[in-house]
Amino acid sequence: MARNDHDLVIVGGGPAGLSLALHLLHWTPRIRTRVVVLEKARYPREKYCAGAVGGRGEASLARIGVQIRVPSAPAHGISVRLPQGELAASPGAIGRVVRRIEYDHALARVAQERGIKIEEGTRVLGLQRDAEGVRVETDRGEIRASAVVGADGVGSVVRKGMGLGRGLWHAQVLEVDTPRTAQDPPRSMLHFDLSDPRFDGYFWDFPTVVEGEELVCRGVYRLVIPGRKPQDLEELLARYLERVGLDLRDSKKKRYAERGFAPQEPCWAPRILLIGEAAGVDPITGEGIAQALLYGEVAAKFLAERMARRDFSFVDWPDALASSPLGLDMRIRHEICARYFGPARAFYEEAFLEAPEAFSLGVDYFAGRPLRRLAQLSAGLRMAILAWRRRSLSPLRPWLNPA
Ligand SMILES: Cc1cc2nc3c(=O)[nH]c(=O)nc-3n(C[C@H](O)[C@H](O)[C@H](O)COP(=O)(O)OP(=O)(O)OC[C@H]3O[C@@H](n4cnc5c(N)ncnc54)[C@H](O)[C@@H]3O)c2cc1C
Repeated sequence: MARNDHDLVIVGGGPAGLSLALHLLHWTPRIRTRVVVLEKARYPREKYCAGAVGGRGEASLARIGVQIRVPSAPAHGISVRLPQGELAASPGAIGRVVRRIEYDHALARVAQERGIKIEEGTRVLGLQRDAEGVRVETDRGEIRASAVVGADGVGSVVRKGMGLGRGLWHAQVLEVDTPRTAQDPPRSMLHFDLSDPRFDGYFWDFPTVVEGEELVCRGVYRLVIPGRKPQDLEELLARYLERVGLDLRDSKKKRYAERGFAPQEPCWAPRILLIGEAAGVDPITGEGIAQALLYGEVAAKFLAERMARRDFSFVDWPDALASSPLGLDMRIRHEICARYFGPARAFYEEAFLEAPEAFSLGVDYFAGRPLRRLAQLSAGLRMAILAWRRRSLSPLRPWLNPA
């Protein structure tokens, strides 16, 4: 019988993989020597990302006593430009903008200080299950594990090894770091521009700090929807920058992809789980850092219990995820995404403008603040009235107007 080297191999040392390792160690300290994180790069390693992390993500780390000290730009609110008008809510500290090269490095160091083994510079090439476990093939040799978690991001090798495709929601993203301009939104705001209804995505302007300099990270997110005409990201971003007198050619262009979560897609197999962007994050905005950190927490609770029983079937992982606040959040975002970038876009925009409490609640949610009951009630009521008034546009159309 083959002896497994580890109980668990975590592939990928980004926020999802490191959060999983940290939470798992918190729940089951004795697994310290039985878990390893395999990371293909060496820290500090770059990850293209605008770096806006909502308070609810970092609250997950705070629950296990982890605080990441890195330079960052504080965020106190969110503003959104829509075709019909502007929305803004700034309730105070809601999160911050970090540089992933620094953030992930600091997170990895905390994990190592707590005794988690991270094999840096180890790229996973593939995996194979057999009766006793999983054979993980790396560029530095083979490792055997009782179970494997794929936290290896959008290009996940683990996902490919499970025979899964790219997934339903796929986005292209292009970002640049630029100087500040006089037309920029207030520095404490995370700004989104969704003012072009023909475009399946948005532009952003986030404050950022690069090597001590206050810059603005700006970018474009485009959801790839089959059948829609592709748009050139560089052309789109160049035009967006021109509005404030910037030239795209003056900045380093950082292009990457993202995967959104779709509840019907498999994210497990016996002895294997996918978390973070390997499984899918928010398809509407591409927000994924908080989700990755929370995935780690949810998976750690699940795995701590299953590993104690040596139960590696993982058949109930979809239920465990679905019944967590993260699972509910992502199911809702999946449903809204299909409608917002579909027939009900104008309805949602109108609803947010008519019920700004709903937008404020969204900002509170991003921040991890408690959601105010009265605001929920008032937003629900206004939305219900709007849904009735605009029933030809509403996503509830089939129920409101059955004829
Ligand atoms: C341009 C852009 C801007 C973004 N802006 C934001 C933002 O402002 N806020 C936000 O919340 N989200 C943002 N996101 C999304 C966010 O970056 C991701 O969702 C998040 O990083 C997912 O975390 P993860 O741990 O699942 O994966 P990753 O962060 O991708 O980490 C995966 C890790 O696995 C390693 N790895 C990959 N393959 C292998 C392998 N074969 N073997 C070993 N290791 C491997 C990688 O090196 C990496 O360290 C943005 C994404 C892009 C592309």
